Amino acid sequence: MTNQKLPTLLVSAGRQSRVTQGAVNPVIQRASSLVFDSVAAKKKATAQRANGELFYGRRGTLTHFALQDAMVALEGGAGCALYPCGAAAVSNAILSFVKAGDHILMTGAAYEPTQDFCQVILHDMNVSTTFYDPLIGADIATLITENTRVVFLESPSSITMEVQDIPAMVKAIRAVDPGIIIMIDNTWAAGVLFKALDHGIDISIQAGTKYIVGHSDAMLGTAVANARCWDRLRERSYLMGQMVDADTAYIAARGLRTMAVRLKQHQQSSIKVAKWLNQRPEVARVNHPELASCKGHEFYKRDFSGCNGLFSFVLKQRLSQAQLAHYLDNFQHFRMAYSWGGYESLILANQPEELKAIRPAGAVDFEGTLVRVHIGLEDVDDLIADLDAGFERIMAS
Ligand SMILES: *Cc1c(COP(=O)(O)O)cnc(C)c1O
Repeated sequence: MTNQKLPTLLVSAGRQSRVTQGAVNPVIQRASSLVFDSVAAKKKATAQRANGELFYGRRGTLTHFALQDAMVALEGGAGCALYPCGAAAVSNAILSFVKAGDHILMTGAAYEPTQDFCQVILHDMNVSTTFYDPLIGADIATLITENTRVVFLESPSSITMEVQDIPAMVKAIRAVDPGIIIMIDNTWAAGVLFKALDHGIDISIQAGTKYIVGHSDAMLGTAVANARCWDRLRERSYLMGQMVDADTAYIAARGLRTMAVRLKQHQQSSIKVAKWLNQRPEVARVNHPELASCKGHEFYKRDFSGCNGLFSFVLKQRLSQAQLAHYLDNFQHFRMAYSWGGYESLILANQPEELKAIRPAGAVDFEGTLVRVHIGLEDVDDLIADLDAGFERIMAS
C-alpha cells in the first residue's frame, strides 16, 4: 500500500510500464488465445495464471491487470475480481461463499435487485436470508445463527440513504463468529470515500458502472477482497465465467484518472443543492449524509472522507400521478434514468407505498413523495433554478 493522496493515486494506479508499454494509458489487449512460445513458457503461465501471467482471455489480459492493480491500490486488499456489471459482482461474490443450508443477513434497504437475488436465486438454492434494519448497529449479533455465512451491508442505503454504523456492526459480528464473511456494496463511496477493507470488511463490491466509468457509457462490476477471501472469490468467479471485455476495462481505468475531480465537484454541488432544498417550504426532509437530517449522519461524519452527487429528499405533499408527471416531465437538466454516477444530473421519484414494498425490514416513516436526485457536473445554479421551477410546477398544479 502507498500513502499517496487520493487524487495522486487515482492518476498513477495501475500504470506500470508492463501494461502501458510506453504510452500513458494501458494498452487495449483484446484476446481469447494467448500464445506460448515454448513448452516452458506454457508451463510457467499455467503455474502463475492467478498471479498476473497471461494465460487465457477469461483470466484477463494486460488491460484487465492494469484495472485490477489500480483497484487494489485504491481499496487495499489482495485482489480485485471483475464482472460484466454491478449486479453480477453482488451475486457472484455471495455465491462464492454460500452453499445449500446456509443463511445470510442482508440489509433491508439494499439495492432492489440485490434483495430480489436473495429472494429468488438464493431461496431456490436453499440459502435463507434474513433482512435487517440498516440502522441495527451492534444488534446485528442477535440475528446471527450457527449457519450464518455472509453479512451484507450497503451504506448509505439505496434511495433512503441511511448510513450504517459499520464499526459497531463489524465488531459485533466478529465477536460472535470471526469466520463470517462481511461484504459491502460500496458503490456510493466509489470504493474510496469509505475504506471498507480498513474497517474490517472482507469484500468491497462496486457497480463500476457508476462513478468509476463516470460517463454513463459502460457497465462494470468490481469486488476487491482481502487476503483471506481473495483466492476463493477469484477461483469461484472464474468458474462461473465472470469477466469483462478489454475495452470496458480500458474505459474504467480511464474513468479513474478524473474521478477525484469529478467527485469533488459532485460533492460541492450536491451539498449546495441539499442545503437549498433543506430550507424550502415544500420539503419535509433531506436525506443527504452531509446534513443532520439524514439518518446515520454521525456515522457518515466519522467514517467517510466525503460524499458524491446522489441523495434524496421527501416532499411534504404526496403528489398525485398527474402532478408527478407534470413535475418530472418538464425539467431542463434533470433527466429520468435508473442510474447515476455519470456527469449528468438525474431525477426519479417514489411514492411511500412503492418504497414500503421494497423494504422488508425498517419502516418507511414518511407520507410524502420521495425524490432522488443525482447532481451532475452542470453549473450548480442552473440546477437549482431547474429545481426551483419544478416546485413552481407543483404549486401551480
Ligand atoms: C447500479 C447499482 C448496482 C448494480 O450495478 P449494475 O452495473 O447496474 O448491474 C448495484 N448496487 C448499487 C448500489 C447500484 O447503484
